[in-house]
Amino acid sequence: NRRIVLAAVPVGLPLESDFLLEEAALPTCPTGGLLVRSVWISVDPYLRGRITGRRSYVDPILTGSVMESGAVGEVIESRHPAIGVGAFVTGMWGWQDYAAVEAEKVLRLDPAEAPIQTALGVLGMPGMTAYFGLTELCAPKAGETVLVSGAAGAVGSAVGQIAKILGCKVVGTTGTDSKVQYIRSLGFDGALNYRTDQPYPEALARLCPNGIDCYFDNVGGELTDAAMTLMNFRGRVAVCGQISQYNDRSKDVGQRPFTEILVKQLRVEGFIVTRWAARFPEGRKQMATWWKEGRLRNEETITDGLENAPKAFIGLFRGENTGKALVRL
Ligand code: NDP
Repeated sequence: NRRIVLAAVPVGLPLESDFLLEEAALPTCPTGGLLVRSVWISVDPYLRGRITGRRSYVDPILTGSVMESGAVGEVIESRHPAIGVGAFVTGMWGWQDYAAVEAEKVLRLDPAEAPIQTALGVLGMPGMTAYFGLTELCAPKAGETVLVSGAAGAVGSAVGQIAKILGCKVVGTTGTDSKVQYIRSLGFDGALNYRTDQPYPEALARLCPNGIDCYFDNVGGELTDAAMTLMNFRGRVAVCGQISQYNDRSKDVGQRPFTEILVKQLRVEGFIVTRWAARFPEGRKQMATWWKEGRLRNEETITDGLENAPKAFIGLFRGENTGKALVRL
């Protein structure tokens, strides 16, 4: 049983040497529980916040501990009456080949409904983040302009497509020209390459001639400072992520947005998706319906091999993924 543990608390951009691949004994199937073989594991930007050695909204992953993360696996041994061998489940057992899990802590998947790895993307945590963050906090109305940063990623690409389904004008920002093409192919009305289309206020103003009614922020930093100056009266900002700041908080030197918030009476709200955990079945049902109708596309960037999970994770901060970043075992 191979597993990846945190070897050192990263300083700045994580390094592969901050992680260690180690061999451990095959766990035994717990009473009433399951022994699962991992098929897919997830790499997500929020994991950076879990390996700082400090508590944020949850306890940190400590050095020597397995990298806890979303995963999808096949049941290879069961001591549970309703979940048999061969069933596919998703849970948070993390970066390891095998895991002993309690049946209450996993969700059973139906491979006939959608590819099982969508449980880590469009039909899983990133999809719920997009769905609830956008509909609950931005509450966009048809015809309004929605700006989403990090638009070619797992969350951002879903946000933009949902906003299009809701009848909005959608503009996205991302880091390469090929990703600009990608989000346009998803139906985005406008797209900005934040590395080349500068200065931001002018570039964004051209793409959002009627201003911005809703801003779904995944990245923060200077791009967000510019977006704030274009917000319309009573606009709504969902603060989902600040990935530009995760590895280097000293860079956060932009202007403070509070004058914009005041004079335009904006509603700015940060959120953690687990706020809506009780409503995930509802969100999943809606996302699955749109997905089956072909209205919600989901790109995946797949890395093979458990041993390459750290590399795939670090790649998130270099923009190496389009859509959901996954590791296939
Ligand atoms: P993504 O699939 O979007 O992957 C990360 C992407 O971020 C990269 O591909 C890259 O795209 C972009 N990026 C990396 N570094 C920078 C930078 N310095 N400036 C701007 N963009 C950068 O990941 P997710 O969809 O899983 O997550 C997106 C955001 O949502 C993250 O900030 C994450 O922390 C947050 N999140 C929040 C949740 C919540 O509950 N609040 C839940 C889940 C995610 P590019 O090439 O465009 O630069």
